[in-house]
Amino acid sequence: MIDNYGREINYMRISVTDLCNLRCRYCMPEDGVCKRRHEDMMHMDEFITAARAAVSLGVTKIRITGGEPLVKRGIVKFCKELGQLDGLKELCITTNGVLLAQHAQGLKDAGVTRLNISLDTLKADKFTDITRIGDIQTVFDGIEAAKEAGFTDIRMNVVLMKGFNDDEISDFVALTKDQAIDVRFIELMPIGEGLDASDLGYISCSAVLDAVPELEPISGKTTYDGVAQMYKLPGSKGRVGLIRPLSCEFCGSCNKIRLTADGMIKPCLHLEGEYPLKGLSEDEMREVLKQSIMQKPKSRDVMDETNRSKAGRNMNMIGG
Ligand code: SAM
Ligand code: SF4
Repeated sequence: MIDNYGREINYMRISVTDLCNLRCRYCMPEDGVCKRRHEDMMHMDEFITAARAAVSLGVTKIRITGGEPLVKRGIVKFCKELGQLDGLKELCITTNGVLLAQHAQGLKDAGVTRLNISLDTLKADKFTDITRIGDIQTVFDGIEAAKEAGFTDIRMNVVLMKGFNDDEISDFVALTKDQAIDVRFIELMPIGEGLDASDLGYISCSAVLDAVPELEPISGKTTYDGVAQMYKLPGSKGRVGLIRPLSCEFCGSCNKIRLTADGMIKPCLHLEGEYPLKGLSEDEMREVLKQSIMQKPKSRDVMDETNRSKAGRNMNMIGG
């Protein structure tokens, strides 16, 4: 479907749960989130109906996210049902990787086409510090299991933070030398627990190019992969992506809508406006989806005067 500004909206992100098995400092409150009433949250069959309505409007790519999507009971079966939707070309998952060792093969068999794994450090003590409770070995095991299951183009998402992982930039980039993985550096966004992004160490993605000047921009059709601007080390198997929600403007090519775990469509990550789908029939959902797509703003001047997001929710509820 084409929105008011001529953008083709063909990508939906679904946050299947706002719960998580980690507590990343920039995303989740230390004590986690209160479990909401079952009846207030979208059920898996309602997500399937919403996905079917979205695909009928031209959505060809769905990303499952959270919270942590792999803590959601029935996630593999859910992916299998989504994977069977006629017209859906890409089914992706963004995960922290902690439960991937037990689910990777099931997800591959269910038709998941790609995995994004979030990992902000390669060091065990720093991982436990940033996630407050995590064990990095579980993520390493998850990455291995994903490779063994046959996921070929794994992407690693790294939120850049000054004083936390800027000293590891070249270690992350080095991972792309011999492995066909994409490492994508993401600027910390002033949203939810990350509202005071500068306190948490916001730095622009330019730090990556300063740290590794050998990185060469990829030209031609693959200059951008989604919202990531792509670079490569000479002769490397993998690539490096820079995602700059703050220091660069990519609203002009935004092709996505988001569905929260409690059933609200967010036409823009940074906009307060939300449109409820819960309890609706597929036809009604289709109408709400059309209306919400027409509410997508032209650009992120929806941020407030201090350049903080007006999203009104933490990232674990929206899904990134
Ligand atoms: N739990 C899964 C994970 O961590 O991959 C999926 C949900 S998480 C909200 C999705 C992505 O959003 C992760 O890569 C995470 O690092 C990123 N994220 C969360 N809060 C952020 C913030 N304030 N700024 C930038 N990225 C953020
Ligand atoms: Fe959980 Fe992902 Fe948020 Fe970390 S970034 S707390 S893993 S939802």
